[in-house]
Amino acid sequence: MEKHTIPYKIYLEEKEMPKQWYNVRADMKKKPAPLLNPATLQPVTAEELSRVFCKELVKQELDENTAYFDIPEEILNFYRMYRPSPLVRAYCLEEKLQTPAEIYYKFEGNNTSGSHKLNSAIAQAYYAKQEGLKGVTTETGAGQWGTALSMACSYFDLDCQVYMVKCSYEQKPFRREVMRTYGARVTPSPSMETNIGRKMNEEFPGTTGSLGCAISEAVEAATSQEGYRYVLGSVLAQVLLHQSVIGLETKIALDKYGIKPDMVIGCAGGGSNLGGLISPFAGEMLRGEAQYQLIAVEPASCPSLTRGSYVYDFCDTGKVCPLQKMYTLGSSFIPSASHAGGLRYHGMSSIVSELYDQGLMEARSVEQTAVFEAAQYFARIEGILPAPESSHAIRVAMDEALKCKETGEKKTIVFGLTGTGYFDMYAYQNYNDGKMGDYVPTDEEITKALKNLPQCNGF
Ligand SMILES: *Cc1c(COP(=O)(O)O)cnc(C)c1O
Repeated sequence: MEKHTIPYKIYLEEKEMPKQWYNVRADMKKKPAPLLNPATLQPVTAEELSRVFCKELVKQELDENTAYFDIPEEILNFYRMYRPSPLVRAYCLEEKLQTPAEIYYKFEGNNTSGSHKLNSAIAQAYYAKQEGLKGVTTETGAGQWGTALSMACSYFDLDCQVYMVKCSYEQKPFRREVMRTYGARVTPSPSMETNIGRKMNEEFPGTTGSLGCAISEAVEAATSQEGYRYVLGSVLAQVLLHQSVIGLETKIALDKYGIKPDMVIGCAGGGSNLGGLISPFAGEMLRGEAQYQLIAVEPASCPSLTRGSYVYDFCDTGKVCPLQKMYTLGSSFIPSASHAGGLRYHGMSSIVSELYDQGLMEARSVEQTAVFEAAQYFARIEGILPAPESSHAIRVAMDEALKCKETGEKKTIVFGLTGTGYFDMYAYQNYNDGKMGDYVPTDEEITKALKNLPQCNGF
């Protein structure tokens, strides 16, 4: 098709790949609020954080002024095996939708873990190895983060202990086996190995677990074993920093062809892929160099940005992690059992929250069946079976393209396609069988969960 001047897939050459991560906080005049120690309600110190997290990662977490961090050569080498990820021009989707809009997506599903999470997993494993640790502990809900971390740990020969929410452990045996193939030890949570796990099992016999509880177990496991630290796959500033590789590559690829997007869209669970994708664009806005429409998409069943409050809250149900100021539904909020496991988090990255609060970004919430309708439509046209999480962004990108069809506007839309959905076929089965429902929490439910906030909102 000679009429296409932009290739279907825009790849970067190795020498064009970013060599540094970008820390968008450096360009924010008003910074995200500091993490607080839950006991003293004072900003956490590097020393306090270092008991739980790797030292170098603590430095990155607390640094709000350094704009660029060199990506260590060992990490660049690993990135080179599966990056750059392609920026795809969705010609087929455009044609099918009959839209004048130009649609691009940045596809992060081209690695065995099947999602963007590997970008941060490899960085976190690298710094753990550098520090001379024996291993790391973590939790996983849907399983994507645990898979990515297992791959990263096996690459650097680190022990990897994953607490997997019991219902996922049972429902997603293949995710579990991928992790074990990469050498990780996977324990269903709540387990009988930690104090918090035993307590939960005693109080709620037969419980199938929750992400909040698995976090508390993983933190306990890290702090009670010599040579171990805890790692987290989203929400934290360090994770957004590593994920900025997504946005930087996207920007370089677009610039190469002189393309300026009108809107950049990403799904938001803890905010890491979205934050990483939009960071370079938000940076230009913050420096007054350009204007973009940045859109976060979240599930209507777990609407932290669109219906939550911007306050300090607990990051985990066990209340062991630092307090973070963020858009939250309350740490006791239990989202309905939606199929986008990676988006079922009560809070949001503090950076994404602050950008949203400053009006640099918008947020939309979408219902599950509309998301799967878009997922199926996309799979049939573009050939990629998307993850349910990613399909939130597809939904809004398609809606925007359809709006352009009505108005005749020729907007350029870029969205993040964070991963593939091969381990989510149970969800697709539900959709195909017509059994999928939409659950939207009532105002009362949200108000109730927000009653259990920490008492520190005067900070
Ligand atoms: C984990 C995950 C997400 C959501 O996490 P963020 O930190 O918000 O990016 C989105 N898509 C996929 C495929 C995931 O695995």
